[in-house]
Amino acid sequence: MYKKRTLLTLLLFTLVFLTFIAVGDADPIVITDPDADSYDTKLVLLGTTGGVSWWPETDRASSSSAIVIGDMIYLIDLGQGSGSRLSEMFNEGTFVDTPTGRVEADSSTFLTKVKALFFTHLHQDHTSDYPELLLIGPGAGLGTTIDPLTNKRKITPLIVIGPGSRGKVEKDLTNYTANGGTIIYTDSADPDFITPVPGLRQMTNGIWQSYAQTINDMTLDDGYPDFTKLVKIVEIGGKEPGDIRIPVTVNDPNTDTCPGMEPFMVYKDELVTVTAILVDHHQVYPSLAFRFDTADGSVVFSGDTGPDTKGNLQKLAEGADILVHEVIDPAWIDLKFGDPAPGSQMDALKTHMLESHTSIDAVADVANNCQVDMLVLNHIVPGNTPYSHLQNAGRNLDANLVIGEDLMQIGLR
Ligand SMILES: [Zn+2]
Ligand SMILES: [Zn+2]
Repeated sequence: MYKKRTLLTLLLFTLVFLTFIAVGDADPIVITDPDADSYDTKLVLLGTTGGVSWWPETDRASSSSAIVIGDMIYLIDLGQGSGSRLSEMFNEGTFVDTPTGRVEADSSTFLTKVKALFFTHLHQDHTSDYPELLLIGPGAGLGTTIDPLTNKRKITPLIVIGPGSRGKVEKDLTNYTANGGTIIYTDSADPDFITPVPGLRQMTNGIWQSYAQTINDMTLDDGYPDFTKLVKIVEIGGKEPGDIRIPVTVNDPNTDTCPGMEPFMVYKDELVTVTAILVDHHQVYPSLAFRFDTADGSVVFSGDTGPDTKGNLQKLAEGADILVHEVIDPAWIDLKFGDPAPGSQMDALKTHMLESHTSIDAVADVANNCQVDMLVLNHIVPGNTPYSHLQNAGRNLDANLVIGEDLMQIGLR
């Protein structure tokens, strides 16, 4: 009897072990809609370009991605056009057939599935559809959940995590002020809140203030919930209770925005742990990379960064399954900027492009150092970069290369 049980246990153990090899350690792969349901955990690309532009001859929206775990959605950045992509991907609605055609049975509540939103940095090509989320989202369940007992919606604020204030304004590298340029400040009765570098919390308040007339109409006349209760802001580097400290000393963001450091945790729930680290995005501070660790694997988002992060990105991404990394086309930079006069505005912009982003030619080295299984190109600048140029990222790459497309899904298991 004892022997029989031992044999059975051994057999079971072998089966579990073989299953683990067959399924547990599978590489992430690009999946299509029919297969998507068989994956519990997915990376979804919502917007795959970047830059302060609407690029001609491409339909790429600007930087935004989602990690989907079961029914839950976690968003990373919301650049221009990505709000529509979010709806295209997740907004299914409920329809009924009537004799004259299909009619939507109820208001959409697809945003009840969005649990948290993370901003890598506050550049507008990563945030410009955030106002859209705050303004249109309340009509689609933003910051609410359905109570399973009463089937009624209750307020459960969407957690929005992103940069606090930079602390001081950037160095003027373009003679902007000398040429009469205006530096914009926030408006407040409290002198502590007058700043040229508002963080995520003041930015959010500013959006509500700018749209006060319509928001007040929605709540007072149309039965909408309190817009200001639908999100909970957590600032990375902020000073309010509940904010997250950046565990490294940055005395002056005008001299060093990316000191070498260790990854730090910014979010954790029963499905995912999110860690962050500073990356090098020229004068932008803080500019962050994020790592999502799930039961099915791990995904790292580089955010906007040059290739040299003093080892930070490598520390964060080491051994991850997927690295989603930004790229810029060096051929486009050369064509656009040529050889500008030293000290000119064009010269400053060219330097910015070269130092604060990662060339297609340089991204393979970054991915190899991170030892990831898959490199996914996103924040492709310009958005209309020829496919043949993007394929150059695969030269000398020790990982699978995926050239990101809007609404592409990658399964993890
Ligand atoms: Zn960007
Ligand atoms: Zn940026």
